Amino acid sequence: MAIRNIREIGDEVLNKTCKEVKEITPRIKELIEDMLDTMYEANGVGLAAPQVGILKRIVVIDVTGEDPIVMINPRIVETDGEQTGYEGCLSVPGKNGVVTRPNYVKAVAFNENMEEYEIEGTEILARAICHELDHLDGHLYVEKVEGRLLDSSELEEEFEEDDFEE
Ligand code: ZN
Repeated sequence: MAIRNIREIGDEVLNKTCKEVKEITPRIKELIEDMLDTMYEANGVGLAAPQVGILKRIVVIDVTGEDPIVMINPRIVETDGEQTGYEGCLSVPGKNGVVTRPNYVKAVAFNENMEEYEIEGTEILARAICHELDHLDGHLYVEKVEGRLLDSSELEEEFEEDDFEE
């Protein structure tokens, strides 16, 4: 188990396009384990490989704290509806902003054994999938914020339960 350093906005690694994973090597397995450890340590619900400085198409997501999802070479194949809510990012500490995302997402990805699978998500899971996949193409949610980026302390209490960091 190892906690990796989370890169923050301004670090150019966060603006680059990640490369596809061709095969699972011991190094990739270790990276995935470290990404999960790093996400949980930071109380995040998602983390993308570029956030720990690795330009590979890998994300981990866990919106419940007990259901880790590993997505390798993920792509969104279907979206539906719309949701508008607060979003945060472990690479943009202390900030939150309003972003509109699809309310339903269907994606295909490979797991840590390079087996292809399909995943469907709504609400926070759909939001997390969109947010994390954006990281793989060098995009941060701050590009999509409607209105002003807020300091987390400015968020009204009623929004706190919706507040999450990826
Ligand atoms: Zn993020």
